[in-house]
Amino acid sequence: MPRPILLSTPHIGDQELKFVKEAFETNWIAPVGPHINAFEQEFCQVVGTRHGAAVSSGTAALHLALRLIGIEAGDEVFCSTLTFIASASPITYLGANPVFIDSDRVSWNMNPNLLQDALAHRAKIGRLPKAVILVHLYGQSADIDPILEACNAYEIPLIEDAAEALGATYKGRSPGAFGKIGIYSFNGNKIITTSGGGMLVSDDPDLVAQARFLATQARDPAPHYQHSEIGYNYRLSNVLAGIGRGQLRVLKDRVAARRHNFEVYQQELGNLPGLEFMPEAAFGRATRWLTCLTIDPTRFGSDREEIRLTLAQQQIEARPVWKPLHLQPVFSGCECIGGAVAEDLFNRGLCLPSGSNLTSEDLERVINGIKGLWGVGSV
Ligand SMILES: *Cc1c(COP(=O)(O)O)cnc(C)c1O
Repeated sequence: MPRPILLSTPHIGDQELKFVKEAFETNWIAPVGPHINAFEQEFCQVVGTRHGAAVSSGTAALHLALRLIGIEAGDEVFCSTLTFIASASPITYLGANPVFIDSDRVSWNMNPNLLQDALAHRAKIGRLPKAVILVHLYGQSADIDPILEACNAYEIPLIEDAAEALGATYKGRSPGAFGKIGIYSFNGNKIITTSGGGMLVSDDPDLVAQARFLATQARDPAPHYQHSEIGYNYRLSNVLAGIGRGQLRVLKDRVAARRHNFEVYQQELGNLPGLEFMPEAAFGRATRWLTCLTIDPTRFGSDREEIRLTLAQQQIEARPVWKPLHLQPVFSGCECIGGAVAEDLFNRGLCLPSGSNLTSEDLERVINGIKGLWGVGSV
């Protein structure tokens, strides 16, 4: 059996263990401590925001973001449809309802024109959403400026889900740093990891202070554990923040390695008929967190699933592009504005193994697995 090649695995640098050891030696084994403070500051420097709160996951960060904006039961929140479930599940934690927005083909992210039209229509009928969640998918920024402009025109707060886009740029700046609140994830499969963790960022010091307050059980400033509202236990561990500090120091290398994977795949497979790689929009630089491509089965000879299953037989993990949220059983009945682009990307889209720790032999195995199918499939 050949060695398994996985989609995206953790890639630890040479300083994480030093920071973790420091946490052990100083006995800061708690969801509080010097690594957390340092990680927040160092992270903010990397993404260019004033303040950040380190939390236990990207999902927790998004949940806090929606709470901070005041989302309540019955409210509506617009959200990209082509994304992972965690972009929208916090909407339902609060009893609010998502309304999904389709992608464009330039970036695979939220189509700014659809959002503009939808907001104009909603303004007319007096039913504006309470917030917009903009997702930056697979290491590529959405077209933020027109989206932010549309939100500002109706005074709707923009929350950026940049869980997959740390290290990317939009017009030279980090996606996640444009909206009222941005969130990032350090899950094991992301571009850097703390095993699990997340960050909420904002330029507004009060919002971030409030996020820390809610993330630590909303404890009033009193010695006797007094609470005037319900909070959460969402802080990141000081031990894991130590891993994060080490990972931040290799972020640039990780971006370079993932972009290199993409370039090798594109060079070797880009000329095969029917294969088209995810475009890189002119307004930014993608990290290629995952290398994604779409397959035209009539031209390639095999469809997405045939390729995926053949790779799986060779111990290579590839994965369909996210199933759009408006097609998820749990969101059946939710409104979606457009949807055909996201559906097409899902039906024909495949994510290839993309870890920053892949060897050139690994890449070659994936490439040969796909080349071997060209023209011999059943389609
Ligand atoms: C991973 C991810 C999240 C959630 O982050 P966790 O840290 O796993 O909770 C949210 N949104 C997107 C787009 C993601 O890929």
